Amino acid sequence: MAKHRARKRFGQHFLNDPAIIDAIIRAIHPTGDDVIVEIGPGQGAITDALARLAGHLHAVELDRDLVARLRHNYGDHRNVTVHEADALQFDYASLGDRIRVVGNLPYNISTPLLFHLLKFRERILDMHFMLQKEVVDRMAAKPGSKAYGRLGIMLGCHLHIEPLFDVPREAFDPPPRVTSAVVRLDPLSPGTFDIKDEAGLSTLVSTAFMQRRKTLRNSLKKSVEFTDFEAVDIDSGLRPEQVSIADYVRLSNHLWQKSR
Ligand code: SAH
Repeated sequence: MAKHRARKRFGQHFLNDPAIIDAIIRAIHPTGDDVIVEIGPGQGAITDALARLAGHLHAVELDRDLVARLRHNYGDHRNVTVHEADALQFDYASLGDRIRVVGNLPYNISTPLLFHLLKFRERILDMHFMLQKEVVDRMAAKPGSKAYGRLGIMLGCHLHIEPLFDVPREAFDPPPRVTSAVVRLDPLSPGTFDIKDEAGLSTLVSTAFMQRRKTLRNSLKKSVEFTDFEAVDIDSGLRPEQVSIADYVRLSNHLWQKSR
């Protein structure tokens, strides 16, 4: 087959550094019991090893030409299923209730994709993704740091987030504009944070971070009264980045309770 030309609109940057590929496979550590879902397998940089080691591999690829190649290459592998589909719309529940998800993600859709996958978190054992390093830093940021914000809070209330290693631009063809990083995500056991109102929490956090320099008291003036802060024992003079995930959840749950 002719060489595939990388398509920008599909965020295609193909990994071609054997040492990095090896490090990713070792981090995932696929076993014969695993049902693995690979998002955006592309030309198969990590697909070969996954297909060899996993019990079953589901490859979800959007680019029709790459799907044809994957079907050609894995047609005779009984443990590989190639899905021509948009990972953002894909129903991961159709693949069972104990899946592992991996991928060198298209960076232009990584945030919506993470939130789509969250909906299936009770069926997901773990996830390993290559992302922009800047995104991984925000996902894993702790309160008090500059990178701490909505992304880290809304993912961190459902997932344990563990950055593994950085990946330089030169590991890809064509190289992306920025440094990448591999991150491991483990769903927290259900109820860890006991969120009563996911949408309310999301709005509360977005509003709080609209202006990072403002205190909660000012940013949340329209939705949170002084007595609400008192009820959950949160200092309304704090800035949004000084508030833990658990405190945002407590405040949101209190507002939800009050509105019922
Ligand atoms: N995993 C490969 C390719 C990474 S590039 C490697 O490491 O070399 C990102 C891949 O995601 C491409 O193959 C691209 O076609 C695919 N992709 C882009 N948008 C997608 C979507 N919405 N759903 C599924 N795959 C997508």
